[in-house]
Amino acid sequence: MPAERIDGVAIAARVRAKVAVDAAALKASHGVTPGLTVVLVGDDPASAVYVASKEKACKEAGMNGETIRLAADTPEAELLAVIDRLNADVGVHGILVQMPVPKHIDAQKVIRRIDPRKDVDGFHPVNAGKVLIGDADGFAPCTPAGVQVMLIESGVDTSGKEAVILGRSTIVGKPMAALLIQSGKGADCTVTICHSRTKDLAAHTRRADILIAAIGKPEMVTADMVKPGAVVIDVGINRVDDPTAKKGYRIVGDVKFDEVSQVASKITPVPGGVGPMTIAMLLANTVRAARLTVGA
Ligand code: NDP
Repeated sequence: MPAERIDGVAIAARVRAKVAVDAAALKASHGVTPGLTVVLVGDDPASAVYVASKEKACKEAGMNGETIRLAADTPEAELLAVIDRLNADVGVHGILVQMPVPKHIDAQKVIRRIDPRKDVDGFHPVNAGKVLIGDADGFAPCTPAGVQVMLIESGVDTSGKEAVILGRSTIVGKPMAALLIQSGKGADCTVTICHSRTKDLAAHTRRADILIAAIGKPEMVTADMVKPGAVVIDVGINRVDDPTAKKGYRIVGDVKFDEVSQVASKITPVPGGVGPMTIAMLLANTVRAARLTVGA
């Protein structure tokens, strides 16, 4: 029987609707409108699209969404000064510097400059540490946080399950593992992280009750690598040439969807799976950051 599709668009819409309710409640109770400021350095077209969608999503949820656009040659010191100003602005609850930043800017320096209480991307080492120790005050990076919400919302019982994560990046793989090893809802997993040096990848993936692919390799995970009945979450977003497509390319995940969906019990599509969750969780983190400022 083909796998049930986990509908990221629908789950993200529910998260966003709740964010809107929470934002309105905070405004009514404390006169505070949650605000996210995104800083975009340079004119990378893909980044510009992401940033515009974040601003739009904020507004749709009744939040303040502002974008500060800086020229590609903006000196690092100038960007740091903008962050200092936003850190001090009580109307700004979340700050996000769109990555990647131009090469002359040290991305780690930028991330570390953001007040951890406003780091709604969850990239600051303070938040990485909090997520690892299971401190509920921390902000988890939006993509793995979104995957966890998808597992919960689609009724996956994670407790005691073997979760295998492909990829060890600081924005997806590592925080994903940190979330799944905690005790509690959507967690309590036994976690394995695989990466490019892992030997016999398929031996690991075939053990997975929950398989999360975040490697950036188009359709690398094939049906023979998946245990029958596994839940498969595909984080990958890859562009592949397709002369039959209008734009000359199409977007695929890290999982060969057609064949893996014949083996898995549940699976996320690409697009329409994990992707929409990332912005939804960014909004959720921003509302939580705003609530924390008033102790609500
Ligand atoms: P990175 O390139 O930072 O990390 C990729 C990871 O995959 C690395 O740990 C790498 O190992 C590992 N890897 C690469 N090739 C293999 C292989 N053949 N076998 C096993 N492991 C491998 O990518 P990100 O984590 O940033 O992103 C991963 C994917 O998720 C991309 O397609 C990206 O576009 C997508 N993405 C989607 C998001 C969404 O909103 N849905 C958000 C963020 C990312 P090593 O460390 O050894 O190099």
